[in-house]
Amino acid sequence: MTTQTPARSNAALFETARAVIPGGVDSPVRAFGSVGGTPRFITSASGARVRDTEGRDYVDLVGSWGPALLGHAHPGVVEAVREAAWRGLSFGAPTEAETLLAQEVRRRVPAAERVRLVSTGTEATMTAVRLARGATGRDLVVKLAGCYHGHSDGLLAAAGSGVATAGLPGSAGVPQMVAAQTLVLPYNDLPALEACLEQRGQEVAAVILEGAAANMGVVPPLPGYTAGVRRLTAQHGALMILDEVLTGFRVGPAGWWGLEAVEGWVADGQGGPVPGSTHSARIWPASTAEASWVPDLLTFGKVIGGGVPLAAVGGRADVMDLLAPLGPVYQAGTLSGSPLATAAGLATLELADDQVYRAVDAASAQVGQVVSEALSAQGVAHRVQRAGSLFSVMFGDSAASSGVHDYEGAQAQETWRFAPFFHAFLREGVALPPSVFEAWFVSAAHDEEAVEAIAAAAPAAARAAAQA
Ligand code: PMP
Repeated sequence: MTTQTPARSNAALFETARAVIPGGVDSPVRAFGSVGGTPRFITSASGARVRDTEGRDYVDLVGSWGPALLGHAHPGVVEAVREAAWRGLSFGAPTEAETLLAQEVRRRVPAAERVRLVSTGTEATMTAVRLARGATGRDLVVKLAGCYHGHSDGLLAAAGSGVATAGLPGSAGVPQMVAAQTLVLPYNDLPALEACLEQRGQEVAAVILEGAAANMGVVPPLPGYTAGVRRLTAQHGALMILDEVLTGFRVGPAGWWGLEAVEGWVADGQGGPVPGSTHSARIWPASTAEASWVPDLLTFGKVIGGGVPLAAVGGRADVMDLLAPLGPVYQAGTLSGSPLATAAGLATLELADDQVYRAVDAASAQVGQVVSEALSAQGVAHRVQRAGSLFSVMFGDSAASSGVHDYEGAQAQETWRFAPFFHAFLREGVALPPSVFEAWFVSAAHDEEAVEAIAAAAPAAARAAAQA
């Protein structure tokens, strides 16, 4: 028998992984496909930092792609999960924690009159679409180019995130008949939606859109766009599904809906106001009556599970009550409402108070500013685009002068500047999301020290971007 020396370098682990896992990863963007090089194999994370298998620490701007609002391994969350684990990992029976979490979601987002817990964002949007079809008796779904709603068959057309990173129009393996049920329209283009609904409105079950698009880089809705989607869907009897998997409980206590429809946040055409400037006293909206628009259904994920697989669909009681066992729309899950996930989610939301959102806002503003200043100092045309505390850097003159408002614009930026920019940051100990089409995620644990480390690394990254 031969004993293998344990592989410890990132490269060795990646090679071993590739022999057994397609591409060496369980989610495509992790493979560094568009930036090249070797992904870092993470062994632990704490606060604003992750550590790789070679023992190097990085200031982390991936944040597990969203869940880590409080920073990694927050003691309050870890302790809640540990306690829950001792009581049993999974029962396949109802628990009180599920009700408490559903109540907390409804307290923050009163439009979620009923909440069903699932395990992934993909399941949440898939369920929302099925519900909309069940409620309306119509088949077509309108999605917007560059928005990503998970990897269910019908929602992969012109999707952002990893689909954009890999430069794919959609996915193989999606039957033509299924793809034909999805109509793709440009984001931020109300006339296009109006024309589409004029023509085929009778067949459209739902329009699904991200709270703020953040899977083609961050592209906030233009003033009036989301309210316009609400008006047009209502006019044509289609449901509006607001996908807050990424934005929910991250950009504010009540997600994007709270920020835009309650607090009145608008993109100002210059990348948006600095977060925090529009909301000095954050409040939970007491009822939907305080909002300028209300979606029929919402989907949540990421932060709601605090880093453990959990997501949710919520919305109008009359629509949600069509779900089995009450109604004819089937949906189920062996691990739905997992005790570990509900414990992590409840602890996370309990800890995510005003102070946390203010800290995330502040860190986001600072990081965006130091990176932008470094790029400007090197003469790199760019724009930091924001949607509340979410932001990303768009490269190129056109992005700098007029901003990016849709998928076409996102793809037209100087994408080649990103890989050298990314790798220079990585060499300096800062881990960005490995794609120009992803948002940067800061947390409440991104303190002054973390921001200083990013500021110290930024000039080298900006030089690399300038020389690309
Ligand atoms: N919707 C949005 C807006 C997302 O950003 C994502 C994931 N990035 C999803 C849905 C899918 O969630 P999951 O990866 O948990 O399936």
